[in-house]
Amino acid sequence: MSALVSVVAPIYNEGPGVDRFVRRLGQVLGEAGLRYELVLVDDGSGDDSWDRIVQHALADDRVCGIQLSRNFGKEPAVLAGLEHAAGDAVVVIDSDLQHPPSAIPAMVQRWRDGAHVVEAVKRNRTGQGVIGRLGGKLFNRAFTGLTKVDLVNATDFRLLSRPALDALLRLPEHSSFFRGTSSWIGFRRASIEVDIDHREGGASRWTFRSLFRLAVNGLTSFTSAPLHLVTLGGLAFAAFAVVLGAQTLIRWLRGGSVAGFPTVILLLLVMGTFLLLGLGVIGEYLARIHEEVRARPRYLVQEKSARAVAEVPEQLVPERK
Ligand code: UDP
Ligand code: MG
Repeated sequence: MSALVSVVAPIYNEGPGVDRFVRRLGQVLGEAGLRYELVLVDDGSGDDSWDRIVQHALADDRVCGIQLSRNFGKEPAVLAGLEHAAGDAVVVIDSDLQHPPSAIPAMVQRWRDGAHVVEAVKRNRTGQGVIGRLGGKLFNRAFTGLTKVDLVNATDFRLLSRPALDALLRLPEHSSFFRGTSSWIGFRRASIEVDIDHREGGASRWTFRSLFRLAVNGLTSFTSAPLHLVTLGGLAFAAFAVVLGAQTLIRWLRGGSVAGFPTVILLLLVMGTFLLLGLGVIGEYLARIHEEVRARPRYLVQEKSARAVAEVPEQLVPERK
């Protein structure tokens, strides 16, 4: 039997977008003649997304739905999908059609040619404001520089082979960062270029806050460089203190007075900021440790879609684990 390709998509309040997505994927994968299953993870949507998923699962045996018990966020939702995927290769894709499904056959081809991780690299980034784009770029550059995991132009649109997926699922971290971890595991890689489309319907689910959290989580789970930066900053301040202290002492011994107020205020401001920032950085790591130590499950499943009644011809029914 030919290889099974699992397509995993997180869904959060996509409404009619769900139908659009399932239809589009069925079309593309059907045309490519791939044997596939569709794992749709409802990340605690407040709208009718789950009902739609259930309908699709009932109508088509290749579609399976998982409903998380609340909104856990995209990363845990993807993880849930990955853990439930049965395929020999797994493709992770956004359900808002920003990642073109038409690229999947090419990714599968790369996998057949021997790659274990196939990344879709974006040629462009549309549908984002200037600030968002700039922020994204800055973060990706900083991340790449600090962690040596290349994120520039990276997307979450990826194919993993079964061995690569099993390796990824062995990582025990609580707050996973798919884009980072799927690079960290290594394995033979390939990439294809895609155009990231505008969102079809609805607005981006990311708020500035959630993006900031993602960035901080990504950084803290991949590198302790910020902690070392604090140490470096402290050392720089120590050197500065020696110079300034010596200067002050000498002036005092000579009977002159040091220029007063502005110096004190500036020192206070700079020191205060640095101290608080340093504490904040340490706090972030502490929070991560706290999170990991609690070891709560990363997501909870509330419901799984019923399997379709066997109307589908036998050879189309995917084998399950
Ligand atoms: N998503 C999710 N849970 C969330 C936020 C988003 O499952 O809490 C899903 C969403 O349905 C979409 C994908 O993650 O399929 C990407 O979300 P979005 O388009 O809002 O992000 P962007 O494309 O702007 O990065
Ligand atoms: Mg999107």
